[in-house]
Amino acid sequence: MRAGASSEVLSATPMPATTRAAFVRRDEQGMFEGMASKDKDPRRSLHVEEVPVPELAPDEVYIAVMASSINFNTVWTSIFEPLPTFGFLDRLAKETFWGKRHSLDYHVVGSDACGVILRAGSAVRNWKVGDEVTVHCNYVDDQDPSSHDDSMRSSTQRIWGFETNFGGLADICVVKANQLMHKPAHLTWEEASVNALCNSTAYRMLVSRNGAPVTQGDRVLIWGASGGIGSFAVQHVLNSGGTPIGVVSSANKVETLHELGCLHVINREEMDYRFWKDPHTQDESEWRRLGKDIRALVGDDPDIVFEHPGRSTMGASVFVAKRAGTIVTCAATSGYMIEYDNRHLWMKLKTIKGSHFSNYREAWAANQTIIDGKVVPPLSAVFGLEQVGEAAYEVHHNRHEGKIGILCVAPREGLGVTNPELRASVGERRLTIFRRHDRE
Ligand code: NAP
Repeated sequence: MRAGASSEVLSATPMPATTRAAFVRRDEQGMFEGMASKDKDPRRSLHVEEVPVPELAPDEVYIAVMASSINFNTVWTSIFEPLPTFGFLDRLAKETFWGKRHSLDYHVVGSDACGVILRAGSAVRNWKVGDEVTVHCNYVDDQDPSSHDDSMRSSTQRIWGFETNFGGLADICVVKANQLMHKPAHLTWEEASVNALCNSTAYRMLVSRNGAPVTQGDRVLIWGASGGIGSFAVQHVLNSGGTPIGVVSSANKVETLHELGCLHVINREEMDYRFWKDPHTQDESEWRRLGKDIRALVGDDPDIVFEHPGRSTMGASVFVAKRAGTIVTCAATSGYMIEYDNRHLWMKLKTIKGSHFSNYREAWAANQTIIDGKVVPPLSAVFGLEQVGEAAYEVHHNRHEGKIGILCVAPREGLGVTNPELRASVGERRLTIFRRHDRE
């Protein structure tokens, strides 16, 4: 792989029986019991060791993972919250013949990957050994009728590497052929590995008709605007002709967003909003203060609020959204038991719209925005697979910006670009906005 072997050479080379992989262990799922979330340490629960390469189903491929990334779902898996993920694997094992492989005493995590196809099962039609690919994480049974009018509505829909085994934080991963997409040729392996999950999620929320699509002139409030999904949300709003109002928690992040083209940014640390007086009581005057700050910046209330912090912000999000506006939510990082004042929702005809990852078409379209250079990867740091616990710790404690890439088979950063002309036209500076050390 590292020497750029041809498809013929790869096909003729025997598959290894084992692979290096990052996993949590079933017998450790109780290790953090009784501890506060912040004290649960992914560096203790994520292990990197050799595990057997599973048998390949006919509709699957093996990928040599050149690079992968940390998503928040790996943080959830590694701290066993809100539930240990072994229950997901056991349920999958009960459903299908090939599903049985997933119920193991270890769970190989990771929901992003970029690499090269090593083997393709007999039912794989559009891809072959040697193809350079990225992977989206929507894992659906295409023989389930409920997965055919938006696969995210499928009753068997799962997130690969979170609700399935054999995820992307490994040297070899296993994915279904309908998770494959072309690797953007102007990106390095690590840049190309950080996009699929977060970009597709933000695309469905803000571009697709299945979310709250932005139209020209819309004002969109984006929480965590320099984080994983937020950094893609900002770019989709700009590309759709809307005006993003980013919320972040440091001056560095404000600077990052300005470089990305997001002119209106609120530093929530500086503004010190206290939406909660105590763990049970919210403060409407603080919601009102945020609303005034948004109006001062963009002259109106937000048509759309891009929500994911959950309990700490949802009351404010429902309050500040414009009359008949939409709050589109895909998560609840700070707590999923949500409280908001329903009078502000019904009297002002607002909508709360739930959204989750994306279907294949949406992921493909989101990937096209990267291939075309219209959305840039928010890669901020790169770790080796052996440091996966450290990288997950950074994300757990909100010490990162954008996305953290993980080198797996790729021996070092900077490899994998096959279209340097396109790279030059997008611009090195724009492609490295989140790499702070690249700043002047
Ligand atoms: P991330 O990279 O950690 O970014 C989240 C950002 O949210 C942080 O950078 C932080 O920004 C902000 N934030 C965190 N807690 C906050 C709070 N209490 N109040 C206000 N802002 C807060 O994570 P991510 O990858 O963007 O994911 C965010 C959430 O979405 C996670 O819970 C993840 O599991 C979920 N998610 C769901 C899907 C799906 O398909 N349903 C897909 C991707 C992610 P500042 O500190 O700068 O304000």
